[in-house]
Amino acid sequence: MKILVINSGSSSIKYQLFNMPSEEVICSGIVERIGLENPKIKYKSSKDSIEKVCRITDHKTGLEKVVKFLLDEEVGVIKSTSEIQAVGHRVVHGGSTFSKTVVIDEEVKEKIKELFSLAPLHNPANYEGIVVAEGIFPEAKQVAVFDTAYHQTMPVEAYKYAIPNKFLDEDNIRRYGFHGTSHKYVAEKAMSYLGAENSSKIVTIHLGGGCSMTAIKDGKSVDTSLGFGPVAGLIMGGRAGDIDSSIIFHLVNNLGYDLNEVNNILQKESGMVGLTDGLSDYRDIEAEAENGDEKCQLALDMAAYRIKKYLGAYMAILNGIDVIVFTAGIGENSVPMRKMVCENMDYFGIDIDVEKNAVRSKEVREIQAVNSKVKIMVIPTDEEVEIAKQSFELIN
Ligand code: AMP
Repeated sequence: MKILVINSGSSSIKYQLFNMPSEEVICSGIVERIGLENPKIKYKSSKDSIEKVCRITDHKTGLEKVVKFLLDEEVGVIKSTSEIQAVGHRVVHGGSTFSKTVVIDEEVKEKIKELFSLAPLHNPANYEGIVVAEGIFPEAKQVAVFDTAYHQTMPVEAYKYAIPNKFLDEDNIRRYGFHGTSHKYVAEKAMSYLGAENSSKIVTIHLGGGCSMTAIKDGKSVDTSLGFGPVAGLIMGGRAGDIDSSIIFHLVNNLGYDLNEVNNILQKESGMVGLTDGLSDYRDIEAEAENGDEKCQLALDMAAYRIKKYLGAYMAILNGIDVIVFTAGIGENSVPMRKMVCENMDYFGIDIDVEKNAVRSKEVREIQAVNSKVKIMVIPTDEEVEIAKQSFELIN
């Protein structure tokens, strides 16, 4: 069965076409800078790899261009759009309404719309992708896979904030958590690699542009570091992670910032960008730290320190730990960050093997020392495969 996976952002559409259940990638690519200057479309299949700048004013035009490539006589991979039986959409926020993947109908679309206010940057773009795909693939089932759904198993003590009850009861203000598709994918990989009996207590550490950690008991999320929105928890590229909310009031009431500026500061100018005076990419930060830049070194130390704090908290709520999983751009590639997080943790039975950690690979791998009680794994995440898998399972 051919399943097209779409991750629609405000100015981009990432896509991958899968043959399921084999998980073979038939083609993939991205439409970038939709509605901006110099829009670009990338298309890659076994036949060719193409990059083209063309006029793309909106998501509809963008997806139509993708379909033109899919159907192309020379580089195409299908003869008719009806060959695609399902389109799996990444939807960032499913609120408390969606605890699992669903087939999209009018009611689901309405609910996704109602959640715009909880994810104003993401849900409208995801919605747009759904509407456009419905028009282009009218025979395919449209499926929504929510970033928040995996965390709906959290117990109330983990998701409720200690603010007046009415804010949860009437306004749905609670921890939702994000990156659920990634945490689920890597946790299930770890469980199938080690056996479920050896992986009942997992902490997954997703370190990419956004960063989050999840405590997982018997395959279910029981706590996660992102919260109501995507700024809580770990130090991220441009996001601060946990801060004392009094800082916001001090900035507004005493230092003259308005709320939009504060939002911008906490979402874009903080985290590694704020600490290094402008760098967000770990490759640059690590290179600068290596050259003796003290701010960059401190930023890395602070990021690792925050991860350790969450690791300690999650080991406490899980009453132990079997496996730590590192994933996403930084988790999969940053040798120094994995080392900083795992060193001086021997009290907890966590002991990283420096040489195994230094090996670069795209494979699922263990990097703990022989006598480490806790397994330390690096597992490349693949949110697109997970969306295809969940779409396939649902409609099959
Ligand atoms: P993601 O959001 O998962 O695509 O992760 C993107 C981030 O991964 C980049 O901003 C970099 O900070 C980081 N990254 C990618 N490659 C490397 C690498 N080789 N070493 C360290 N960090 C990396």
